[in-house]
Amino acid sequence: MNHIYIKELLASTEFDREVTAKGWVRTRRGNKNLAFIELNDGSTINSLQIVAELAAFDEQTIKNITTGACISVTGILVKSPGAGQLAEIQAKNIEIYGCSDETYPLQKKGHTLEFLREIAHLRPRTNTFGSVLRIRHALAFAIHKYFNDRGFYNIHTPIITGSDCEGAGEMFAVTTLDLNNVPKNPEGAIDFQQDFFGKETHLTVSGQLEGELAAMALSLIYTFGPTFRAENSNTPRHLAEFWMIEPEMAFYELEDNMNLAEDFLKTVIGHALEHCADDIAFLSKLYDAELKNRLDLIVSEKFQRLTYTEAIDILTASEKKFEFPVKWGSDLQSEHERYLVEQHFHKPVILTHYPKDIKAFYMKQSEDGKTVKAMDVLFPGIGEIIGGSQREDNYDKLLNRIREMGLKEADFWWYLDTRKFGACPHSGFGLGFERLVQFVTGMSNIRDVIPFPRTPKNSEF
Ligand code: ATP
Ligand code: MN
Repeated sequence: MNHIYIKELLASTEFDREVTAKGWVRTRRGNKNLAFIELNDGSTINSLQIVAELAAFDEQTIKNITTGACISVTGILVKSPGAGQLAEIQAKNIEIYGCSDETYPLQKKGHTLEFLREIAHLRPRTNTFGSVLRIRHALAFAIHKYFNDRGFYNIHTPIITGSDCEGAGEMFAVTTLDLNNVPKNPEGAIDFQQDFFGKETHLTVSGQLEGELAAMALSLIYTFGPTFRAENSNTPRHLAEFWMIEPEMAFYELEDNMNLAEDFLKTVIGHALEHCADDIAFLSKLYDAELKNRLDLIVSEKFQRLTYTEAIDILTASEKKFEFPVKWGSDLQSEHERYLVEQHFHKPVILTHYPKDIKAFYMKQSEDGKTVKAMDVLFPGIGEIIGGSQREDNYDKLLNRIREMGLKEADFWWYLDTRKFGACPHSGFGLGFERLVQFVTGMSNIRDVIPFPRTPKNSEF
């Protein structure tokens, strides 16, 4: 097997040598003497042109070169006379690996993204999904590289969890009980003691709490794993199964946390700009002319930092009519976040010091007694892309908050232990990976940035 991937062939200037290329036929056109075949193998957005003299091949081979077929071509790599491409192959031998036929759903170009979702098994063969998947990979790689370069350790936190810290309503149950014959205890409730783990379990919504435990031993850690939310919201920004990156840092305070989040986003987006220029240019052209500018802006502009209270003042003073009223103490809606980013500051925003009642129990309480040391990073077009905070490291304050919010103290014994034994100031944040991929690809629906989306009533493929 010594064929050469198309990305390398197209970049090559070593002409007039024999090479082999393999891939899937995108289109075929030609006249009665010549066939021009566009071959793509996914190594790059660009296809390689194959020129075949019909007289040199048997009739059946030529017939089998149809859109969607998989072929292997051996021939001479020559400088392309056509505009727009460097190299092409003059075919000497063509082997058909897999035929296709007229029922192949990707015959013509220009299918809607909705239609492509229904053929998610084939959509990676389109230009759009090829680009999205290559960018998705580049971002995942850049994230691991970013943390590794800075001394962070990757921690694998559990996917099945016995604590329902973030509200069981949004969690998927994990059970091996017979759903047609559920065992009950004397009180008439489900007897989870008979279940696989001997207690109620769910799929995780976040690896943070376990991540914190690791940070209090290894100092700098991050998770990059799947998370699950049974939220029945059919929005273009929510999936039931998505990937989350959660760094957690011992000895970091809120300010350090913000600095890390900003540098992190700039670095990984910069990596994509550098390594996925062709794909970003393609997506810009097809879907969103402003995409490249928006990405450049993230890298070049310093993010605007302000408190929640200052943001409320700006929103109340604005002329804009919001659908949801602005009031100190209520959570900001997407329209408020986007106003701040897109119309007021014209750059990414980091909002801090939210009211404690709209944030999670583990966030560090501020000296004012009303707010917590939270930070949300808001991006144009997306709204919240990162949510994070300094964590409460005071045992009594944390316990109080758990009780005030009506959480089950017993579930958190291990989490509370870390505030009893060698507690330290620490911070972290969570980035929804698909939200980042959405931002970098400009895709407006989150279903189009993950190979096989899981959403309400949809688990096909
Ligand atoms: P939202 O208000 O958008 O629902 P959230 O407050 O529930 O977000 P967090 O619990 O802070 O989000 O989760 C951390 C990050 O995970 C978010 O900043 C976001 O990027 C991402 N995220 C949250 N829920 C989803 C989801 N259902 N699908 C994809 N990404 C998500
Ligand atoms: Mn949510």
